[in-house]
Amino acid sequence: MIVAIDGPAGTGKGTVSKLIAQRMNFTYIDTGAMYRCITLKMIRNNIEITELGKIQELLNNTSIDFENAFDDEGNYFQKVFLDGEDVTEEIRTPKVNERVSPYSNEPIIRSHLVKMQKEYASSKDIIMEGRDITTVVFPDAEVKIYLDATPEERANRRYKELVAKGVETTYEETLEAINKRDYNDRTKPVGALKIAEGATIVDTTTLTIEEVYESLRKIILEHGYIEP
Ligand code: C5P
Repeated sequence: MIVAIDGPAGTGKGTVSKLIAQRMNFTYIDTGAMYRCITLKMIRNNIEITELGKIQELLNNTSIDFENAFDDEGNYFQKVFLDGEDVTEEIRTPKVNERVSPYSNEPIIRSHLVKMQKEYASSKDIIMEGRDITTVVFPDAEVKIYLDATPEERANRRYKELVAKGVETTYEETLEAINKRDYNDRTKPVGALKIAEGATIVDTTTLTIEEVYESLRKIILEHGYIEP
């Protein structure tokens, strides 16, 4: 089965996908992490978004791998490897956050990553989340979900996460960054965030993560998935 999830930043797509992967035995693919890896590699190599030849060469010579891991409290997460190097932390730093949305507008980056995403799903039960999974990557997925929440609630969640990590920022700055990224994600010429035909919308604004998990689990079971 393919479970495809889209939605703006901070709706809990990653958190709930990890719970489903762990508890219901799906393989989790975080497509945002893939766009983040390419962005990081472009920053490190000083490649501008206009240098299409260099970008193509970079794409042809890049590997992105995921590895299941557990933190000190036993929570499942995924390590992300760029060309064999663990970049799990670095791809979530502000320098990558700022550039990832405009960089992922580039069609040659998108078509390369979409092809990789389709390949991951060839033989497993997959839960994949991002912005164009229900519309471009797997428009025929058995389960299509659009997760949503108000920008204020999403900024609130993101702000708490950043503070916990020791990043110096304010709620207002976080809200502004979320609004900017939303605007860019919704107006991309290719792969824009939108609600797919046949997608179920789940508004997470007032839900706990366990409540989001339960509503998605119910939808997945209704579509015929048999829990291991
Ligand atoms: O999901 P996450 O916030 O990590 O994604 C980072 C950025 O990557 C998004 O803001 C979006 O611009 C881009 N992205 C995309 N298509 C996807 C997943 C992410 O364009 N399928």
